[in-house]
Amino acid sequence: MKFKVEPVRGFRDILPPESEFLRIIVEKFVGVVKSYGYSELIPPTVELFELFAAKSGPEISRSMYVFRDKAGREVCLRPELTASVVRIYIKSLLAESKPVKLFYVGNAFRYEEPQLGRYREFFQMGVELIGDSSVYSDLELFLILRDYYKSLDLNNYSIKISDVGILRSLFTTWGVGEDVQDILLHYMDKKLYDEAIKTLNNYGRADIELLNEITKVRCENPSELPELTKSLSLPDEASRRIMRLYEVTSLMSSLGINNIIIDLSFARGLAYYTGLIFEVVVPNLNISIGGGGRYDNLVELYGGPPTPSTGFALGVERTYLALKGLGLTDRLGSGDKVMLISLIDNYAYVDRVASTLRSAGYVTNVRFTSKGKLGDIVGLASKKGYKHVVLIGEKEFKHSKATVKNLITKWQGEVDILKLPQCLRDC
Ligand code: AMP
Repeated sequence: MKFKVEPVRGFRDILPPESEFLRIIVEKFVGVVKSYGYSELIPPTVELFELFAAKSGPEISRSMYVFRDKAGREVCLRPELTASVVRIYIKSLLAESKPVKLFYVGNAFRYEEPQLGRYREFFQMGVELIGDSSVYSDLELFLILRDYYKSLDLNNYSIKISDVGILRSLFTTWGVGEDVQDILLHYMDKKLYDEAIKTLNNYGRADIELLNEITKVRCENPSELPELTKSLSLPDEASRRIMRLYEVTSLMSSLGINNIIIDLSFARGLAYYTGLIFEVVVPNLNISIGGGGRYDNLVELYGGPPTPSTGFALGVERTYLALKGLGLTDRLGSGDKVMLISLIDNYAYVDRVASTLRSAGYVTNVRFTSKGKLGDIVGLASKKGYKHVVLIGEKEFKHSKATVKNLITKWQGEVDILKLPQCLRDC
């Protein structure tokens, strides 16, 4: 029987070098969030469907992988990880001192139409800051993003930002219930304004003119926001939220995050957001590479105490696509790589040389070959981006040496094995 070797539609086999870049992208993320004192959670891939059914929003609910397990439970493959983190928080972390700062890295599944950067299984890395409503907690997420993107040399990104509470407070004033608000925000997210207006026409108090004015507010300099909104007759709650958005974005600017786009027409697909929302965009991709926001009611919705919280999720593959599009993947590197080629079957000596290199931080790939095939292996090393090859033959073994060859400058020399790490740095 002949097996089909293609992966299932929408799923991907991720091979080197992409797999190596994705790993580095995750490792750098973990390094940055740990430096902010966040601790890792590893939630399960399968959850009860009801966990996501309530507040995922129409788009994500429709695209969920839902099935019954052998005991008849209605379960799903997680479409995102925030709901699981909140569930775990309620089950196991309620007694922790707040805010609780958590991070995760994991796969998520959505049955979407596959295209570049949109897969049915993808990886998210995210943080959740649970139990804090302060301006600093919102700001900290952006500081993490600032440091993370700096670690990747990614400077060319913008943060699209709004507060979904502005629109929600208008809808509430007009008598629109929360469920219909979720649908309206879904329409806004998909830019289906006509659909939103059609729905709002059923509400006598809805002020479509005001909605149009609000959704036109867009600026890149936070200092323009008060001016742009001052003539609008808004409910107090909406004005309060605009002032808070102004405060957070001004602080962002003062802390070196200048690439901000305030856009009050902006909404996000997930229905659990209650306040500040944002997405990270880069010029070369027309889809976001990350997104997040404040979800002050979710813990309570799942049966916990009122717990204001915020967080974000970044797409690992999309971060890679952004870096690739900007020609930044070469700089990611995975540390210096050395191809150690041995012409002799002296495993103890080869292991000694390889261990010396590895303890000095060099990725060391060992190959045994014969003189006749040496040229091929050196050619392969060059093609795969190795800067150095280190050769071991009888002569080198006898004198406790190795021959180093720089594949870029073509320099070549025999070196004492203890001096190898320094030689690789210098020549
Ligand atoms: P969301 O909260 O739905 O905006 O997702 C957060 C991030 O996950 C997005 O900004 C993307 O980077 C990533 N993401 C979402 N859906 C997909 C997908 N189908 N394929 C790849 N990445 C995705």
